[in-house]
Amino acid sequence: MDLPFAENYKIKMVEPIYRSTREERENWIDQAHYNLFNLKSDQVFVDLLTDSGTGAMSDRQWAALMTGDESYAGSSSYFHLKEKVKEIFGFDYFLPVHQGRAAENVLFSVLVKAGQLVPGNSHFDTTKGHIEFRKATAVDCTIDEAFDTNGMHPFKGNIDISKLKAVLNEHPKEQVPMIIVTLTCNSSGGQPVSMANLREIRQVADQYQIPVIFDSARFAENAWFIQSREPGYQDRSIREIVSEMYQYADGMTMSSKKDGIVNIGGILAMRSKAWYEQASVYNILFEGFVTYGGMAGRDMNALAVGLDEVTSGVYLENRIRQVHYLGNKLIDMGIPVQKPLGGHAVFVDAKRFLSRVSKEEFVAQTLAIELYLEAGVRGVEVGTLLADRDPQTKENRYPKLEFLRLAIPRRTYTNNHMDVVAAGLKNIFDRRDSIARGFQIVEEAPIMRHFTVKLEPINDQ
Ligand SMILES: *Cc1c(COP(=O)(O)O)cnc(C)c1O
Repeated sequence: MDLPFAENYKIKMVEPIYRSTREERENWIDQAHYNLFNLKSDQVFVDLLTDSGTGAMSDRQWAALMTGDESYAGSSSYFHLKEKVKEIFGFDYFLPVHQGRAAENVLFSVLVKAGQLVPGNSHFDTTKGHIEFRKATAVDCTIDEAFDTNGMHPFKGNIDISKLKAVLNEHPKEQVPMIIVTLTCNSSGGQPVSMANLREIRQVADQYQIPVIFDSARFAENAWFIQSREPGYQDRSIREIVSEMYQYADGMTMSSKKDGIVNIGGILAMRSKAWYEQASVYNILFEGFVTYGGMAGRDMNALAVGLDEVTSGVYLENRIRQVHYLGNKLIDMGIPVQKPLGGHAVFVDAKRFLSRVSKEEFVAQTLAIELYLEAGVRGVEVGTLLADRDPQTKENRYPKLEFLRLAIPRRTYTNNHMDVVAAGLKNIFDRRDSIARGFQIVEEAPIMRHFTVKLEPINDQ
């Protein structure tokens, strides 16, 4: 008998979690105005709200914390991380920041002006927020295949080169400060971008003289998909693949709360000295001095180790296997999910799951609330609430896809927890025809409303 796969780590510290009753949860979600962001974490049993900053650090990372250098200027932890960034991504210039959106804030302060366009694959919500905050427009050039949850395209994060060229043909290069490629593409289901696509984007960018920035939160998971799905890369190491990917970029922003496997922190890195010098001014203004930005020395140390771990050994196999364990279980139950399965999360297709609930009543949010009530599992809506209103018309934007995202924290839960999630969804799936009404908004913020929105159930009278 072949020995089965098992994680190449054991657990040396545990954190208790509380398994509540349905009655308790009904109370709590009502008090939270049906917004899962308003729940207290101890009201949640399995928390799949996000894989951001929720992972478990290794003993090597905890050890590195102890040797952090907290000097205000010239910290050795900074130089250590700077070297790691150069070694893995190849960029000479690096600024530490407190998280991914801070990297966006600093870089876009240099590059993005009102009235400009920023094409890319589906931009992450904070990326889009920082573009729109500057009165510029994010243009989604993702391939059409990404919007068919059943299609088996292996790289649904790819940019459609003809859509990209159309934007660049219609606008002078002064109006397009950069192309942003998100690796993996979160908003379209944690879907990877192929090396061939990155290479082609680079060629187009050179032709039109536009810089390319990689939004790099899950760069290692993207590399894993290139290794496992793209011809010619099976025998290349993750390090080699990452190194080729970043040859095609002029700079990167990164939330290290994902593939950095740390709880807070971010990276802004680039080839251009001129950009670095301008960005340094904003970094000092918004984040902190250039050698610590938004990070403690100990956190920079832990991140340097995290970048090592995420790109070596069988870490990525552990990771992707667990995500696919849950995803395949749901597929076997007939539950509609984004296929092929992505790297950090399983995206349940809420429109197909709850086909009686209309998009105007926030179908993906409705499913997220059902799952919380059923099993104490917190996922997150990636649908109409997240898509927000059109900044000009103020109308709701209805995205093509409405997802319940189940994001899996790194090295945190066991497959038993995944079984609870799957069973909870199965129970809802079995009674899906009895769910016809969703929710309406009671209160919302003018930008990034999903974090604070208050909702109430719509009841037929
Ligand atoms: C998380 C994330 C960000 C923002 O990073 P924060 O650390 O949450 O500020 C940007 N882009 C992508 C693709 C992300 O996943």
